[in-house]
Amino acid sequence: MRLGRIASPDGVAFVAIEGDDGDARAKEIAEHPFGTPTFTGRSWPLSDVRLLAPILASKVVCIGKNYAAHIAEMGGEAPDDPVIFIKPNTSIVGPRVPIVRPPSSSRVDYEGELAAVIGRPCKDVPAAQARSAILGYTVANDVTARDLQQADGQWTRGKGFDSFCPLGPWIETEIDPSDLEIRTELDGAVVQRSRTSLMVHDIGAIVEWISSIMTLLPGDVLLTGTPEGVGPMTAGQEVSVVVEGIGTLTNPVVDRN
Ligand code: MG
Repeated sequence: MRLGRIASPDGVAFVAIEGDDGDARAKEIAEHPFGTPTFTGRSWPLSDVRLLAPILASKVVCIGKNYAAHIAEMGGEAPDDPVIFIKPNTSIVGPRVPIVRPPSSSRVDYEGELAAVIGRPCKDVPAAQARSAILGYTVANDVTARDLQQADGQWTRGKGFDSFCPLGPWIETEIDPSDLEIRTELDGAVVQRSRTSLMVHDIGAIVEWISSIMTLLPGDVLLTGTPEGVGPMTAGQEVSVVVEGIGTLTNPVVDRN
């Protein structure tokens, strides 16, 4: 099932998206999308509604340095344990919402990533049981002010600006995430292309590691790291991250005045 969130005629609605591209419909879910959803009976053509970020996260926990070729391009060493950091939930935006480059940075990079969305409260989840903790998967862009990240020595400012965590277009609940193509396009040119099978720490290991540190709540989002090919975006460009079997997340880039 594809689960999303839309701007509905009377507010915001969780929806299940059914049907193929041309005539897909967004069916309104009563209450929340966790567990087995029930439906209100209202639906809209997907082409008539605006998709929002598919979930409201209490936190976004991210893995750094999780593809060997990206570690190499950054000039670092592969860590034994996953390196994690948190992006504030206020950095989340949905599809088509502009990524805003702050004036304090002169280099804002895209980082295309697969994201896992947590489906239930959980702690100390063994890797073999990670699937039971996950609602589904979506697409993320771990936008990073590279110069500020490097200047600060830690990553909160460089990765925490409003709009620095585009998510979407929806959550795919029925997909095996272990070997999907992940691709980033800048103004249509492919700048990152890899496969999720090349992660250093796979989804199970990531869930086990993070949940050994902190309780995860329904809707929390785990970013699984970016492959090689990271690079800067400038105002006026458009960036798309595509994960095979999930969808395409596209955002324009603007400068904050
Ligand atoms: Mg990243």
